[in-house]
Amino acid sequence: MIKSSELNRRHLVLVVEDQEINRDILGDILEKKYDLIYAENGEIGMKLIREKADQLSIVLLDLIMPVMDGFEVLRQMQDDPELCEIPVIVLTAEKKAELEALKLGASDFITKPFDMDEIVRARVGKHIELNERRQLIRSAERDHLTGLYTKGFFFEYADQIVKYHPEYKMDAVVIDIDRFHSVNEFNGREFGDKVLKKLAEGIKEFLRTTDGIASRIEGDRFDIFCLHRESGEYAEILEKLQGDIENMSENASIRLRMGVTPYREGVSPSAMFDRARVACNMIRGSNKDHLMIFDEDMRQMEMYQQRLLNDLSWAIEDKQFVVYYQPKYDIQADPPRLTSAEALVRWKHPELGMISPGDFIPLFENNGVINQVDSYVWSVAAGQIAEWRDKLGYLLPLSVNLSRTEIFDPKLETYLETLLKENKLTSHDLKLEVTESAYTDNAAELIEIVDELRKAGFEIEMDDFGSGYSSLNMLSSMPIDVLKMDMKFIRNLEADIRNFRMIELILDIAKFLEVPVVAEGVETEEQVKMLKDADCELVQGFYFSRPLPAVEIESLIIKEMNTKRDQEQ
Ligand code: C2E
Ligand code: CA
Ligand code: CA
Repeated sequence: MIKSSELNRRHLVLVVEDQEINRDILGDILEKKYDLIYAENGEIGMKLIREKADQLSIVLLDLIMPVMDGFEVLRQMQDDPELCEIPVIVLTAEKKAELEALKLGASDFITKPFDMDEIVRARVGKHIELNERRQLIRSAERDHLTGLYTKGFFFEYADQIVKYHPEYKMDAVVIDIDRFHSVNEFNGREFGDKVLKKLAEGIKEFLRTTDGIASRIEGDRFDIFCLHRESGEYAEILEKLQGDIENMSENASIRLRMGVTPYREGVSPSAMFDRARVACNMIRGSNKDHLMIFDEDMRQMEMYQQRLLNDLSWAIEDKQFVVYYQPKYDIQADPPRLTSAEALVRWKHPELGMISPGDFIPLFENNGVINQVDSYVWSVAAGQIAEWRDKLGYLLPLSVNLSRTEIFDPKLETYLETLLKENKLTSHDLKLEVTESAYTDNAAELIEIVDELRKAGFEIEMDDFGSGYSSLNMLSSMPIDVLKMDMKFIRNLEADIRNFRMIELILDIAKFLEVPVVAEGVETEEQVKMLKDADCELVQGFYFSRPLPAVEIESLIIKEMNTKRDQEQ
């Protein structure tokens, strides 16, 4: 039978003591339980400590010795991050040396002449155990790769700093590596790890100059909680860290970015780091800015956005969302013919006034609540088609916008079908606009879903075409019925008429795909003429009409009906 005590490794104890008799006594007391090695002065002791740093459990250290004394040994151990964790018990006959030894990092004392054997053994045992426990905690506390705190401990300590030292004014700093995944991809994970370690070294170096703590939160995100300083200083720190890692790879420049939330009384560390993260993400991918301080403007923006999120819940019930419609015209007809319209939502906020969708759509998308608005808009639009049909005897198809997350909602098709049924519409009456970038993100899966919708009869318009990165290859396999050319192509015409080449190119692609093109953002007669000459079929833009409330669209429909009747007569 193996006793469990034998399974425990025997601890290695170093005795640094110039008096042979003392070495012998300690040997006798400890040898049953521990493996012992000896040094007869500080210099030899130091050499052994460095050699056996990994195995040493404790050092028993005399203070007064020839060649190098115990104080110097303590000093050298303190200066070395590898050695300062090894516990040291000082052997001393002099009471007054204790304080200095303590200051130098000694853990405890054994007085000479030595106490009872039991007491010496108990002290040695206790400190070995304490240190092992501390190391166990450290291993959970520290990220294995970088030695920085892990996320949980970091936030725990940050909270403690705020709680117990409210007099410390602390800043929250977030550091990220731009496109770290491509650094990994191009150079291998091992190289990526090297970069992370190097960056962590730089951060530790910075922390030696100030009070603070740091963590590798995950992947390539580092958080630092440190004493407040001016933004100019952060620029210097960032530059220094950037310098450390910049030249590590020949084939990829590695770029850091930093977001900072300056100290503000009463804000929790986790809220501060959220903001620093927001600031840091604002400069993602930027070639120009690498440091962003969370400032008053951003705080205002954050409060505004939070307000919009809060207000959303009752805004729908309160009918604050209003759907406007912007007509699309067929410009090949003479006069141009109204073919359909796009539903565009507006928020008539009782206190904040009219809010444009650009302010809340991306916000709601990012917070996973866009469907609350959109399902409302779709149902209003479907109801509107039916209302005009019943009232005017005219069916004007409408298109609605779908956000990318909604396309992946398994209930989407059923919901749309219900709307059609409730309003006695067919799937040709309600068209769906899906932005091009949604296609590029998740091509295979999206194509499958869009195929389903098309099988059910829905027409899909690819919105903002030319702003994403679909390849021709992808395009030919994409299920679409209409291309909506991004507004920027018309805008660019203003700058240089030669940009018309781009528009022709898109029209060519559409011809190849056998789908019509809607040119968006068309504002002038000249633009209409050029598009018409280039065989572009449909136009949507201020030239014909801004997005309008339903009543005003009604007038356009009536006008259209009159023209039609006149032509038929
Ligand atoms: P979008 O789908 O590309 O809509 C076209 C935008 O261009 C609209 O802005 C429209 O008012 C504007 N516009 C139209 N013609 C012209 C023009 O000639 N010149 C200029 N300068 N602008 C023109 P809006 O209404 O502010 O909507 C912005 C974006 O918000 C929309 O871009 C769409 O992506 C999104 N959006 C609007 N309503 C909804 C909605 O109900 N649901 C979802 N998911 N997104 C919506
Ligand atoms: Ca659209
Ligand atoms: Ca568009």
